[in-house]
Amino acid sequence: MKKPLNYDVKIIMASRQIGEAFKKSHPDAVVIKDFFDYHNDTCPRCQESFKVSNNTVQKVGSISGFVVPENKRAYIYALCRNCSSNITKDSRFGSKVVHGSPAAENTEKFILNALLQR
Ligand SMILES: [Zn+2]
Repeated sequence: MKKPLNYDVKIIMASRQIGEAFKKSHPDAVVIKDFFDYHNDTCPRCQESFKVSNNTVQKVGSISGFVVPENKRAYIYALCRNCSSNITKDSRFGSKVVHGSPAAENTEKFILNALLQR
């Protein structure tokens, strides 16, 4: 059984804020943190590995998420610094990348596939 990953406290707080925001915007959706907790030693956008020391993921750029409305699920994940700065050129937060848009599609596929492989 894989051990859950640890993060800097700021990252954990940011992930909770995104979760709270999803609960408000999509009250019927369940917030899923499994990718963040177990698989997010890989950046889901560029698929590069994060540096992990003491089981703590280093150099996270931002926390983001997406909702799959038809499944009533919201997913939370961390992006590396490179991907975060690339995304912020278009929108301030990855969470504003529209679900189903080409910009989000590969990231979302990677996360959903990782969760299926458990
Ligand atoms: Zn990345």
